[in-house]
Amino acid sequence: MRTISILGSTGSIGTQALAIAALHPGMFRIAALTAHSNTRLLFEQVRAFRPQMAGLTGISAAEAEIPDDLRFCDWRFGEEALLCAAGGVPCDDVLVSVVGMVGLPAVLAARKAGRRVLLANKEALVAGGKLVMACCADASEGPVLIPVDSEHSAIYQCLKAAQGNPYEAILLTASGGPFRNYTREQLRNVTLAQALAHPNWSMGAKITVDSASMFNKALEIIEARWLFDAKPEQIEVLIHPQSIVHSMVRFRDGAVLAQLGAPDMRVPIAYAMAYPQRIETAAPQADFTAIGQCTFSAVDPERFPAVGMAYEALKAGGAAACMLNAANEEANAGFRAGRIGFLQIGEIVTETLQRMGDQAADTLEQVYAADAASRRTAREIMEKL
Ligand code: NDP
Ligand code: MG
Repeated sequence: MRTISILGSTGSIGTQALAIAALHPGMFRIAALTAHSNTRLLFEQVRAFRPQMAGLTGISAAEAEIPDDLRFCDWRFGEEALLCAAGGVPCDDVLVSVVGMVGLPAVLAARKAGRRVLLANKEALVAGGKLVMACCADASEGPVLIPVDSEHSAIYQCLKAAQGNPYEAILLTASGGPFRNYTREQLRNVTLAQALAHPNWSMGAKITVDSASMFNKALEIIEARWLFDAKPEQIEVLIHPQSIVHSMVRFRDGAVLAQLGAPDMRVPIAYAMAYPQRIETAAPQADFTAIGQCTFSAVDPERFPAVGMAYEALKAGGAAACMLNAANEEANAGFRAGRIGFLQIGEIVTETLQRMGDQAADTLEQVYAADAASRRTAREIMEKL
């Protein structure tokens, strides 16, 4: 039996993690659950899974109106809800599946309390990779940071199979999103509804827009740099529209290992939750005769400049990746709110990074300062558009 706290339990990843837990009632016990403002779903989850603690980050105690039958658990609100679920409540594992850089302090709190982190929240690594990896260095009792992102789970699994042999390159696959074949002119006028219609994956709104702009792949390049201690030139991105090969790793002998399967997040979520066991997920099997073919191509930097920006940020070092993430969070939200056009997401991030210049990211204070300054700059640029 493993006890697990789920931060962001009402989201796409959180609900799928609870579905895995429900499939294996003797294997997982839920210690804590948090949502931002979806009280209706959180109340249902608390009723079903009976955690010791539950929290709402986006609303106050007075606003929440906790039903009498749910007062058996310890309710927390605001930022304290995340920190308590991450590090205060006794548990083995903390699944960090909130969206955005708010995941960073939660990851650090979980590690400080000695918890194993199952990490879906890529923004934490992008913003504070150095700090996160520094507190995950102790692997004396097995891995303490297991990736949930499908590509990174695939790479992780390939590296386990390599039995300590060093890799030469990581081949990060990308579906290319709904606008893979659009011209730049067509991209200018795409709508939010079009951006939210991802061809292969069903995910939360922010990451779905990131997939359309390919900022998701930009974040994943930086995520891979930290998780696998990769040099930028060791990370290659391949457009693979079928999303069957979840990523690959090449070794010095020329061999390439890949992890394949139907595009279903329950597989990498369950892999992290039950590591090192493989358990039932109810995900469909990949039907290779129906898939027919797997294709691969390079990213077009003209239409999708985000990928190039990730390499630039890695080269610049310091807080560049943190500022890229912050500007993208703001621009992504601006696009979802209908304030800016699709191509302006990339333009805002580029201009923000140019204006910000070099900044350090050695301490949490520096990361927060760079994040806040980058958000301010991105919002200023957005307001003047
Ligand atoms: P969702 O938007 O579906 O869910 C986000 C969760 O976080 C919800 O529980 C939400 O609560 C909560 N939340 C939202 N804002 C805040 C906040 N400011 N503070 C604390 N909690 C908050 O996102 P996803 O599940 O799609 O993604 C979660 C993370 O996992 C992201 O970092 C994403 O990049 C990553 N990821 C997701 C994949 C996917 O398939 N969905 C794949 C790979 C990575 P409420 O419901 O109340 O708003
Ligand atoms: Mg991914």
